[in-house]
Amino acid sequence: MIKKFFSYYRPHRRLFIIDFSSAIIVAILELAFPLAVQWFIDELLPTEEWDTIVTVSVLLLAIYLISTVLQYIVSYLGHKLGINIETDMREQLFTHVQRQSFRFFDNTKTGHVMSRITNDLFDIGELAHHGPEDFFIAIMTFIGAFVIMYNINPELAIIAIIMVPFLTVLVAFSNIKMNRAWKNMYIKIADVNGRVEDSVSGARVVQSFTNEEFEIHRFKHDNGQFRLAKLVAYKVMSGTHSSIYMMTRLMTLVVLVVGAWFNINDKLTNGELVSFVLFINVLIKPVDKISALLELYPKGMAGFRRFLDLIEQDPEIVDREHAKTVDHLNGDIWFNDVDFGYDEHKKVLSGINLKVKAGETVAFVGPSGAGKTTICSLIPRFYDVTKGSISIDGLDIRDMTKHSLRSQIGIVQQDVFLFTGTVRENIAYGKKGATDDEVLEAARKAHLQEFISELSDGFDTQIGERGLKLSGGQKQRLAIARMFLKNPPILILDEATSALDTETEKIIQQSLAELAENRTTLIIAHRFATIRDADRVLVVTKDGIAEDGTYSDLVKADGLFARLHNIQYQEV
Ligand code: ADP
Ligand code: MG
Repeated sequence: MIKKFFSYYRPHRRLFIIDFSSAIIVAILELAFPLAVQWFIDELLPTEEWDTIVTVSVLLLAIYLISTVLQYIVSYLGHKLGINIETDMREQLFTHVQRQSFRFFDNTKTGHVMSRITNDLFDIGELAHHGPEDFFIAIMTFIGAFVIMYNINPELAIIAIIMVPFLTVLVAFSNIKMNRAWKNMYIKIADVNGRVEDSVSGARVVQSFTNEEFEIHRFKHDNGQFRLAKLVAYKVMSGTHSSIYMMTRLMTLVVLVVGAWFNINDKLTNGELVSFVLFINVLIKPVDKISALLELYPKGMAGFRRFLDLIEQDPEIVDREHAKTVDHLNGDIWFNDVDFGYDEHKKVLSGINLKVKAGETVAFVGPSGAGKTTICSLIPRFYDVTKGSISIDGLDIRDMTKHSLRSQIGIVQQDVFLFTGTVRENIAYGKKGATDDEVLEAARKAHLQEFISELSDGFDTQIGERGLKLSGGQKQRLAIARMFLKNPPILILDEATSALDTETEKIIQQSLAELAENRTTLIIAHRFATIRDADRVLVVTKDGIAEDGTYSDLVKADGLFARLHNIQYQEV
């Protein structure tokens, strides 16, 4: 997994090398500074040569400036590296999700994908940036500082370092507490977010039940819980920072006192004493960094694991090696002994044999849950059959490219999914690069022009989130316009008008009939009035296709269709 993690550095290795080498130089300068001060006090000061002292100070200033610039580079480029890696991963994840098949979306929660693409990738980006850099630099500085101190005065070096384990334990312990506090805070903020999301997207329901006060009350509670959790986190954080500060001062004091004693006994020069005190800070920094890494590493790696879990799921429906691009299908659809189930244990379809001739309009009726939608979703290969085969114009659909197959099939469903945007954008979704004239023509064919002309901004009117500002009939018309633009030879209407009132249904029916002209059309319908003109009617039950014939034949046949037919017409 570490190897996979590092593979994401590859495109950015130049950035990494510049960042990393700058960080090494900064670390070396940091180690050199106390030594310079020591030399300044012990060697330069006694000479009392003011000119040299000024020259050396200017030199030190130059080194400071270089170090500052390098630190800027380390911080900026380091973050750039992290952001670049995060961006790459986010794009890879999105691309991967786009290519997934229906079954993936059946089994995946939107919220999970969202949190992968945001929270997890933030953590990974932070780790990518801080991980290798901070780890190596911290260890290098720590060892470097100790070796130098040991060379100056072994006893004092050991006294100084003896306190480091205590500091490490303190920091590690605080980190555990801090982690717990942050985690709790994340859970609480997720609750708050959930409330906001629910009550904004469900605002219409809230208001129709006049439950605003109730929602505010619930929100106040969650918001208060979040406040408490955040307070605890900051309390732990403040405690940690003050105790680290205390420990550092304590270390400095001990070194100062013991150092003073050595100094009086002529075992330590003045410069060396100052140098030692300065080195304490150099020693502390790595401890801080490493302990921050201890927190970041598991978080980032857990995020990376979840990222990999998604990335490593191969799309189920893919093109076969020699898949053909089909330019124009006539629409002869054959099901040959087809079995299918959404999971292995439960068959939804078995032994389906079906022939639909090009240009034919075939209606599917039958009880809800019988498998009508399932039959239709096998044709564009949203799922693959488990046994048997489906062919169009004599060619197995698995031997066609997914893209060319799907571009020949249009589906209009009961709930139309529209994107936030304008009327024009939503119609144009049916065909990439559609001209304005084409969009206009499609709108005309779908009998939308009157409605559009009444809108304040015409074609450029925003339709609201998922077409919220449109009525059911208007949405369906937009979907039909989109389909006129796509102009596929095969058309599937899956209860396209079932959600509409009878009056609107009648009007939309006209547009649908026009859309169906000269195409192979499969209609799944609830109300029989909408399928009178079909060439054939198939009755689908849990056991397969039970009846097959013209509308009038089936009514006469006195089977299931006739029974359903009678029930419907008695009701009206
Ligand atoms: P119909 O369109 O005739 O009402 P469907 O084809 O939608 O019936 O459903 C047939 C059966 O398959 C039902 O038992 C339904 O619960 C099941 N089913 C439909 N879609 C899925 C899915 N995405 N995942 C699992 N089971 C499904
Ligand atoms: Mg259905």
